[in-house]
Order: sequence, then C-alpha cells, then structure tokens
Amino acid sequence: MNAEIIAVGSELLLGQINNTNARFLSAQLASVGVNVYFHTVVGDNPSRLEKVLEVAGERSDLIILTGGLGPTKDDLTKETIAKHIGVDLALDEVAMASIEGYFKRTNRVMTENNRKQALVLKGSEVLPNDHGMAPGMMFTSGKRHYMLLPGPPSEMEPMFTKYGIPAITTKMGEQAKIVSRVLRFFGIGEAALETKLEDLIEKQSNPTIAPLASESEVTVRLTARDQSEEHAIKLIDELEAKILERVGAYFYGYNETSLINELAMRLKGRGLTIAAAESLTGGMFQEQLTSVPGASAILKGGVVCYSNEAKINIVNVRKETIEENGSVSAACAQELAENAAKLFGADLGISFTGVAGPEELEGHPAGTVFIGIHQKGKPTITEKLQLAGTREINRIRAVKHGCRLLIN
Ligand code: ATP
Ligand code: MG
Repeated sequence: MNAEIIAVGSELLLGQINNTNARFLSAQLASVGVNVYFHTVVGDNPSRLEKVLEVAGERSDLIILTGGLGPTKDDLTKETIAKHIGVDLALDEVAMASIEGYFKRTNRVMTENNRKQALVLKGSEVLPNDHGMAPGMMFTSGKRHYMLLPGPPSEMEPMFTKYGIPAITTKMGEQAKIVSRVLRFFGIGEAALETKLEDLIEKQSNPTIAPLASESEVTVRLTARDQSEEHAIKLIDELEAKILERVGAYFYGYNETSLINELAMRLKGRGLTIAAAESLTGGMFQEQLTSVPGASAILKGGVVCYSNEAKINIVNVRKETIEENGSVSAACAQELAENAAKLFGADLGISFTGVAGPEELEGHPAGTVFIGIHQKGKPTITEKLQLAGTREINRIRAVKHGCRLLIN
C-alpha cells in the first residue's frame, strides 16, 4: 500500500508551526509496512486543496489529510473532499452525542456551527475523537482510501494510533494475504551473510528480505504479500531456494526453533542416544538438552569434568594424553567424547574442552575450544574453534557449535 500525507493549514505555509503531523504519521505508517511517497502542505483554500487531491488520487492508495475538521469557516477539508469524490456529508449521531456531552461536561453553550463537526462523509468509518470534538474518518472510494484526521496533534496522534492504524491494517489484510517465514543460520556473521545475499536484498520488494543478528545467530525474515496465500507461499519458497543455494551450509531451521531443539528432533528421528563430557561448558549442553521435552529418550547422561583429575579419573582420559597434549587439545577432546559414549552406553558422545577466558590457559588464548564428536562405528571427529567473545559468550557459542556439528 502506497500512501501520501496532505497537511491542510495556512499557518503551516506561513511558517508559524512545524508540520509535526506528517512526521508522526510517516513514522507510524512505516512501522506497519505502508510506504509513504509524498508529503504535501496546502493552505486553507478549497481550489488549491482540490488540485492537490486530484494529483494524490492518481498516485496513492491511501491519502491521509490532517487539519481543517474544526467548526470555523476556514475549516473546509470535509466539504472539499465530499465534492471531489462526489459523496454527501451526513450527521453522525454518535459524534453528535459526544460533542453535546463535551459541552455539558464543560458547562459551555454549544453554538450551531459545532454541529458541523459531527458531519462525516456518508458511508465512512468514523474514528472517535477521545481528546476533542471533531471525529476523524476513513472513506473508501474504489481502490482509494481517504483518511481525515483533526489538526491538533494532541487529538490526532492518539486517534491515529488507536483507531487509524487498525482501520488501515484491516484494509491491507483484505487486499492481500501476508505470509512470512524465518530462516535461521549459525556459523556465519550477519555482514558475511548480507554480502552473499546483497543483490537479492537490493532488488527485494515482494518478498522482502530482512536479516537480523541475535545471540550469535543470524535470522532472515522473508515476507510476501499476494491476493492468494498459495502464491505468496510459492514466492517465499522460490526465494528460500535461491538463498539456500548460497548459504545453505549454515542453515539449520525455520521460525521459532533453536539449535538444541533441532538437534533433539534429529536424534529422536534417528533413534540415537547421546552422552556428554563437558569441561569449559560446565554442563550447559546437558542443561539445554534436558530443557527440550522428551529429552529422556535422547540423553543418557554426562559428566562435568572441569579438572584434569576428573578427566582422568572419571572419564578415563589417559594421563599421558593430557601430559603430552594438555587438556585443551584435540587428543583430549577425542578421548572425552569416546569415553563419555562408552561410560553411559550411548550411540554418540560429545565433548567440550577449552579456554573460556578471560585469561589464557596452557599457552592457548581465551576462546580456544576443542569439540569432540564420537559415533559408534565411525572415526571420531574433533573441531578446533577460535572464539572471540567474552567468557559467557564463548561458552554459549561452544555449545551452539557442538549442536551444529551433531546436526550436520
Ligand atoms: P480545530 O478543531 O482545532 O480547528 P482542525 O482539525 O480544524 O482543528 P486546524 O484548524 O487545521 O485543525 O489546526 C488546529 C491546530 O492544530 C493548529 O493551529 C496547529 O496548532 C495544529 N496543527 C494543525 N496542522 C498541524 C500539522 N500538520 N502539524 C502540527 N500541528 C498542526
Ligand atoms: Mg480549525
């Protein structure tokens, strides 16, 4: 939906006030995905307003006017639009009652011209004014929507947020189905991912592509609009295929899932069990896995083997392995993973050993991590990571990398 904003008022053209209404409305419309292409200011002059309306009608789906809804002679917005689109003005009983109530409450005498404020475009949706008298309105003429709002920001802003936005999004919903899908990636930074998708992002309009980095992961939200939901889904499917062709190696799941959740589902699907030996992650992998419902079918058990003694005496890592290579080593990670699987009778074993930081250890800088993955009947794999976060972030990332290795 493309919109434009017309601010009516000679005081704006005389430089007496700033057009804060247009700024407010633009920001609000952007937040609900409406493109604002034009701002116009026109004085309290029916023939010039008429000209502005003519141009707006040719280029915009939604035309929002502010100002000129008051009771005085110079307030001519409604009359001019009524004439322009060929619709009558009619008294709105609800608005009339609210204006009468306002005068009673404030102990003032209502004048005849106040009735003029209760006139609305016949057939329009009335937007109540909770902070003043003149009601706003939305009128649909063919494919074009006109929204009329009062000039004073203290009335216009709450009216637009409470009644205007919902009226607009309802029309957008009737016009098109909106389908969105989130693709989740791990192991690639936001900047690197954006570079790989640069040309797709640049020419995006439908579907749109919105990358977002959070918690050491990157998500990409694809949103498509179309009359037919089926076609919107097809547009998203096609774009997803193009994206995965380039960065599919880092993709792990859709929408609200997480790495640990995907891992749990895959292990369950393959009927595999796992055990863990965790040093720098201190049990975080097991804590996360047990938070997934049904974890008992997957996790056999594990050890937090923080000291070398625990690695040697509990997980049966050979003393020489640690003496020759240190505990921060591929050799140690390998034995930890293999022995964890053996110890708990699991199909898979995973291990985490490394330096969370901030100090270095055994001559390795903070962020050095070795992960071991053992699967019965296959050669054990180890992976070395060089992470660059804080102590806490390094530990979280280590667990996520472990999940990724098991998922792939
Ligand atoms: P009223 O019932 O108060 O006459 P109205 O809907 O007729 O309201 P106007 O007479 O055009 O609106 O403007 C009333 C006041 O609202 C202006 O004097 C000004 O203070 C404020 N106003 C109008 N338009 C804008 C605008 N675009 N941006 C900021 N303030 C505005
Ligand atoms: Mg006025």
